[in-house]
Amino acid sequence: ELSREHAVHPIGAPTVWPVPPRSTLQGPAYDVMVVGAGFAGAVMAERLASQAGKRVLVVDRRPHVAGNAYDCRDAAGLLIHQYGPHIFHTNSADVFDYLSRFTEWRPYEHRVLASVGDRLVPIPINRTTINALYGLSLDTDEAAAAFLASRAEPVSVVRTSEDVVISAVGRELYETFFRGYTRKQWGLDPSELDKSVTSRVPTRTNTDPRYFSDKFQAMPAEGYTRMFERMLDHPNIDLLLGTDYAEARAAYPHRHLVFTGPIDEYFGHRYGKLPYRSLRFEHETLAQEWLQPVAVVNYPDEAVPYTRITEYKHLTGEPHPRTSITREYPQAEGDPYYPVPREENQALFKRYEALAREESGVTFVGRLATYRYYNMDQIVGQALATFRKTFAAPDRAVAP
Ligand code: FAD
Ligand code: UDP
Repeated sequence: ELSREHAVHPIGAPTVWPVPPRSTLQGPAYDVMVVGAGFAGAVMAERLASQAGKRVLVVDRRPHVAGNAYDCRDAAGLLIHQYGPHIFHTNSADVFDYLSRFTEWRPYEHRVLASVGDRLVPIPINRTTINALYGLSLDTDEAAAAFLASRAEPVSVVRTSEDVVISAVGRELYETFFRGYTRKQWGLDPSELDKSVTSRVPTRTNTDPRYFSDKFQAMPAEGYTRMFERMLDHPNIDLLLGTDYAEARAAYPHRHLVFTGPIDEYFGHRYGKLPYRSLRFEHETLAQEWLQPVAVVNYPDEAVPYTRITEYKHLTGEPHPRTSITREYPQAEGDPYYPVPREENQALFKRYEALAREESGVTFVGRLATYRYYNMDQIVGQALATFRKTFAAPDRAVAP
């Protein structure tokens, strides 16, 4: 029998959990199985356990919690992000308050510089960037706006990621900062990508050097992984790491499923594969105290094979005589990290979404299951809303 004791798994200790023989199981042991221990899965599990009193099994194929936000100590003892830099920012007080139950915060405002020629200049493009590149001394917002207007090329309908930038700053700045970076990052020209991609990066006429302008900007004081461990530390939640859903689904009976993996994978790629962009992360510890003046330096030059270098000590504030960095090399194959925002991909997703609507007893949530290029805070918001809609309101509840 699958006893409670047997199923209690020490959080944070990566283990391959034994799948019990089917014959020993008697009836549904869990109300809900949650596939994925990233933001989407962890928020759903936490709400289901603490608000709805459900018994929850969280399954992840990786040997750790936190999904792509996972951080850990490297051989030098420095906290690094295994799947690339994760900077928390949000305008939602609800999301910030919710996460604040599980972590303290370290105030941090993200700054990014772009490597252009032999210089490092601010990105998003701001007045400092323009003055540095053109040898100008524009000293008001109006002067910078007038400069950009003189360069911008009007585009009648802004449709693509190329249109967005060219209509705001013109072709030269577009080619300096966006064309090469985007072609590397996505393996596509900006003209082939939805406008939503480069719209993530604003253009500024002031000298605000911050990457984000959100109301709340901070890093979890003890890291993301610690925050996830606290979210999942509930007597109603069991954790099964290093195990694929395909293996766990029959072995651990459940009344309802919350699926946060790729939606096309769930349906056996019935309509073909949804494109996801992947990355290879090259982690390195250098025998010097600092490498670069800010946490992230972008490399828009297409001749440089990586897109950016992150130096974690800027994010964590940890003193150390050495410094740990990550270079990101975009690639087609590998773990699915980014849904690719293009019309034809959205059309294919819609076909899977239609299947999902017909799938009873399953809730699809998260970046991979809803095929949305969402930040962490948006995924938390999506999961909180999904929980309320699906499980919390008794009159509208569709699940146990
Ligand atoms: P994930 O974190 O991907 O979690 C899904 C989990 O499901 C994974 O752990 C996976 O192993 C598991 N899984 C999938 N299929 C199965 C299966 N069949 N069986 C078992 N387990 C399965 N957001 C920000 O707000 N700020 C940032 O600075 C930022 N930087 C980013 C940098 C990079 C390089 C990337 C890739 C993303 C970044 N994001 C950032 C976005 C952020 O990572 C996502 O918004 C967030 O992680 C999404 O959470 P999720 O739970 O939907 O997905
Ligand atoms: N981008 C770019 N140059 C930059 C920064 C961003 O061309 O210096 C484009 C690129 O297409 C990137 C997108 O804008 O994928 C969104 O940038 P963001 O920093 O939000 O990417 P993420 O952190 O999600 O990888």
